Amino acid sequence: MSGPQKLFKPVPPGGTIGIIGGGQLGRMLAMAAARLGLQTCIYNDAPDAPAFQVTEQSMDAPYDDLDMLASFAEVCDAVTFEFENLPAHAIAHLAERVWVAPGAHALAMTQDRLTEKTFVEKLGLKTAPFFEVSSVAQAREAFGKLNGKGILKTRRFGYDGKGQAKVASADDAAKAFESFKGAPAILEGFVDFSFEASVVAARAADGQFAAYDPPENAHEHHILRRSTVPSRLTGAQVEEAKAIAKKIGDALEYVGVFAVELFVGFDGALLVNEIAPRVHNTGHWTIEACACSQFEQHIRAVAGWPLGDPARHADAVMENIIGAEADAWEALARSGALHLYGKRESRPGRKMGHVTRLKPLTKS
Ligand code: AMP
Repeated sequence: MSGPQKLFKPVPPGGTIGIIGGGQLGRMLAMAAARLGLQTCIYNDAPDAPAFQVTEQSMDAPYDDLDMLASFAEVCDAVTFEFENLPAHAIAHLAERVWVAPGAHALAMTQDRLTEKTFVEKLGLKTAPFFEVSSVAQAREAFGKLNGKGILKTRRFGYDGKGQAKVASADDAAKAFESFKGAPAILEGFVDFSFEASVVAARAADGQFAAYDPPENAHEHHILRRSTVPSRLTGAQVEEAKAIAKKIGDALEYVGVFAVELFVGFDGALLVNEIAPRVHNTGHWTIEACACSQFEQHIRAVAGWPLGDPARHADAVMENIIGAEADAWEALARSGALHLYGKRESRPGRKMGHVTRLKPLTKS
């Protein structure tokens, strides 16, 4: 085990889990921790974070404020994240003081699309073809290696389709790279997939592994609209998807919940699109459809507790509530298990909540 592992000791009930990031994921993590009798302290770089509403202890400071991070580490028995884009030196600073999970290595691997895809390929897993692009000339050259269509993506700090451009010619690729203002990028071949799926899985410090059934995911305008379990994956593909997650989790010596986003080809192949080193929007349905949700599972792993049972006891459809859709909260409340994130302002494209609808289990 690397780095901060030497500081690892299980956190008993009454202990404090520090969560960096105060959005809806931090909020749902804090609520799950409370159920286990654990306290949380939320660290967020702006006041008025959704997670501040559900926890007694919070800190509002920049993510690279080393003094504040040291004070945060003082009050926490273990620290985790709800988002992956924390500066590496800030993580290292924390990891010298407190057990941090997932660790700096897993975060560094997944923060950069080029490092991440290279790592996945080295594990013998399939991905879309990808090429490093650090100049206009490289953008043109890389396009020439694709079969006519690609997506240029910034290597870092992309989410919900930000920092991405579809390209259909070498000129497009060059222009897209210029529009990223010199940010290092990768050019990926466009995958003509049948549908998208994801595996949300957990790994404990002792190597225990638990994967949820992979949902099928539909996106609209680059934002997740819906996750459905069971998916159209066959039993064999479900097992393969879980094995992919296990391989990645073991190789990263990962501790906590992570998600692997997959493209499912028309030939049945599973291609890894992205690894998210955190709880994931495509795992929200586990709150109602599993005995142990992804949020509780993550807290268990970070706190050094035994992992919970990921078995699904119902079929489920989770729909995100985006922007002004939240105005229909009364109708949504009638339609299923409603979660609203306490965001005071609704903006187009902003995730305001989600609703999960259960049906009796059809297949496991
Ligand atoms: P990402 O930020 O990499 O997760 O991409 C966001 C979404 O863009 C994915 O969920 C896909 O719907 C689409 N996408 C990303 N990469 C590709 C690709 N290489 N081929 C086809 N669609 C893609």
